[in-house]
Amino acid sequence: MEGEANEPAIGIDLGTTYSCVAVWNQRGIEIIPNEQGYRTTPSAVAFVDAERLIGDGAKNQVAMNPANTIFDAKRLIGRKFSDSKVQENMKLWPFRVIKGPADTPKIVVSYRGEEKEFLAEEISSMILGKMKEIADAYLGKDVKNAVITVPAYFNDSQRQATKDAGTIAGLNVLRMINEPTAAAIAYGLDNKLAFVGKINVLIFDLGGGTFDVSLLTIEEGGVFEVKAVSGDTHLGGEDFDNRMVDHCVSEFKRKWKKDLSGDQRALGRLRFACEKAKRILSSTTQTSIELEYLHDGIDFSMKFTRAKFEELNMGLFSQCIETLDQCLKDANVDKSWVNEIILVGGSTRIPKVQHMLKELFGWKELCKSVNPDEAVAYGAAVLAAKLTGNGDQSVRDLLLSDVTPLSLGVEVVGDLFDVVIPRNTVVPNKISKTYVTCKDDQSSMYFKVYQGERTKSTDNHLLGLLKVYGIPLDPKGVQKCKLCFQIDANSILTVTANILSTGMTKELMITNENGRLSKVEIEKMIKDAEKYRHEDQEFKKKVGAYNALEDCLYKMKKKIKEYNVNKKLHPDSLKQMENAIVDTTVWLEDNQDAPIDMLQRKKVYLEFVCAPLM
Ligand code: AMP
Repeated sequence: MEGEANEPAIGIDLGTTYSCVAVWNQRGIEIIPNEQGYRTTPSAVAFVDAERLIGDGAKNQVAMNPANTIFDAKRLIGRKFSDSKVQENMKLWPFRVIKGPADTPKIVVSYRGEEKEFLAEEISSMILGKMKEIADAYLGKDVKNAVITVPAYFNDSQRQATKDAGTIAGLNVLRMINEPTAAAIAYGLDNKLAFVGKINVLIFDLGGGTFDVSLLTIEEGGVFEVKAVSGDTHLGGEDFDNRMVDHCVSEFKRKWKKDLSGDQRALGRLRFACEKAKRILSSTTQTSIELEYLHDGIDFSMKFTRAKFEELNMGLFSQCIETLDQCLKDANVDKSWVNEIILVGGSTRIPKVQHMLKELFGWKELCKSVNPDEAVAYGAAVLAAKLTGNGDQSVRDLLLSDVTPLSLGVEVVGDLFDVVIPRNTVVPNKISKTYVTCKDDQSSMYFKVYQGERTKSTDNHLLGLLKVYGIPLDPKGVQKCKLCFQIDANSILTVTANILSTGMTKELMITNENGRLSKVEIEKMIKDAEKYRHEDQEFKKKVGAYNALEDCLYKMKKKIKEYNVNKKLHPDSLKQMENAIVDTTVWLEDNQDAPIDMLQRKKVYLEFVCAPLM
């Protein structure tokens, strides 16, 4: 057991566009609503003058403050600045991303009158912190233990960085689990694992920013085995929104001969409106986008049909189907192998996507028993309960096996990628391979560890470097080095090199150079996160004190009128109270930024002077 029994443990679906948190309680799994009552929370963070907003608050003001509202951190996490996908996305983001040390992307915002830089890990940690707060408030406890989900296709750097984000948020990350596996757990439990023998499921997960397709087998009694995964870390609802935005921009240009593509505020408003229109088009065939004063004082109004939406995105929908086909091929199965299709992610609500799936499989219906927005958090919470000994018998009996999403290996002579752990190998796992010296009297060996599916090493993702020195001098091919690749249950890798003749070993540390944060950096970020949390709390307190004083003024003004009509106050007393109310009102107008204690003292004074009214 990895957490303390009976301590609550939550499951968090950290989505590109929305996140969701769930917990096990006596009745089963519960999706925890946020303070607005919504069951999913936008994965967005905004910096507004003196305040930091996370979730709905951030999303609601994005059009007013596009440069300081950060979303899509999941598209950046664990990636390099020079990564072509990052470069592509940067063109669409209204916020600024710069190249930090070691090619790390940094997000630049203006906050409290200063320019601040954040890593994607820090932004994700703020979102995870928000999900923790939602759970803390709901459960009335400080929740520490959590299972966090990641796309099945995330590489090692992206997983490590997500885990770091959890640690920065003050969470004890019990386990990281692939999103489709979590969805399958939700499906299995929801159906009480009531099937006989085994069932083969296809998880089709099309969310806001990522697309995952997975083939799993669920066996009677709750054994989940992932057979194959495939997907695209850059395909989802936001791409559909972007195509709609591009279309609106060209329509605007055609009609008004003006280019609004450089107007970030207009683009932000358009994106917001397009996303809304897209959702409407999932249930109706036509809608309209109306935006006043969109650009250069021009009002924008346009009809959008479902047919147009489908035409604009057909290429992307087809890409999903092609990826699904590839996944079936990878797993060496054909369509008839699939007994059930589980839809996950808000974008699977798009009728065309459902239609294409039904057509491909020749089915009349797709599984609707799990909620596409909540299934992933649900499954993560089941695993969290199992790991902390909190669930019932069906949860305790659950067995789970996952697979590696990408092949892992080293570079060998000629820039060739030599696979040690093939893609789709069950984890946790440990596989060793022995390499020999390639020169006479070679005293050191240098291994470059990569992850990916390309034949040329350098086309894959570099995870780290491992150097071994002090090899006894011998003719080439005599000295041998055993490389052991070990993947833990989170699919995180450790590589150990062992010179067989001397027994000397060396372990691969994924260094900062490769996207991993150092311990010192994580500690600094934990402190920073605390600082921001503290600042947020102080701000809330200040707003509370300000509102309390304003409220008190309002009540006193009202009471003084009522009281005077009924009971007639002594003129001196009345004068004193009126003066106090006027003085405080003027003071409050002039001191909007007053410290909390001043605001509180003013309130105490007002209540004291106006005591006869109480
Ligand atoms: P997820 O990441 O699973 O929360 O999915 C969020 C994505 O689903 C966003 O891009 C939403 O715009 C999209 N989405 C949510 N509801 C709908 C809907 N009814 N029709 C189309 N897309 C939707």
